[in-house]
Amino acid sequence: MTDCVFCRIAAGEAPATKIYEDDTLCAFLDIRPIARGHTLVIPKRHATELEDLDADLGAQMFRAGHRLALAIRRSSLSADGANLVLNDGTAAFQTVPHVHLHVIPRNHGDKLRFAAGLLLRRPHEPMTTAEAIKGGIAALEAEDEGKSA
Ligand code: 5GP
Ligand code: ZN
Repeated sequence: MTDCVFCRIAAGEAPATKIYEDDTLCAFLDIRPIARGHTLVIPKRHATELEDLDADLGAQMFRAGHRLALAIRRSSLSADGANLVLNDGTAAFQTVPHVHLHVIPRNHGDKLRFAAGLLLRRPHEPMTTAEAIKGGIAALEAEDEGKSA
């Protein structure tokens, strides 16, 4: 068994509140969210830092982060925007040595709540939060279907 916690989450061997999954990527709620809906997108194949990450996989990871940012705007979380952040390497305060992209929902005027979230890192009803984001993904897919119809 790998000692990488994100590899174990990707393999379904460690618990996580998953939001999205396909053959190459997985997205799940951060266990210590800065804001409600704070999600991590990871490649399933282990890469410690950007140095080890296949460029196409990196592009797919960003694409998934991009869609999640759109989904949380459409979800009942009603985000107005998002911070997409990737801490690359311990010099950049990366704490989990498996590449991951943070998608952190933001709202207009949330400066104090966001600052408190940075300090407290408290979970917010993970199951209902995950369902809300999945609802946003479904809304985005319905929009896409409408555009291609
Ligand atoms: P970093 O500082 O490496 O960019 O961020 C790592 C993130 O992973 C942190 O926000 C932390 O809360 C989250 N994290 C660490 N261990 C776990 C875990 O076992 N499960 C989940 N869901 N998130 C984790
Ligand atoms: Zn890993």
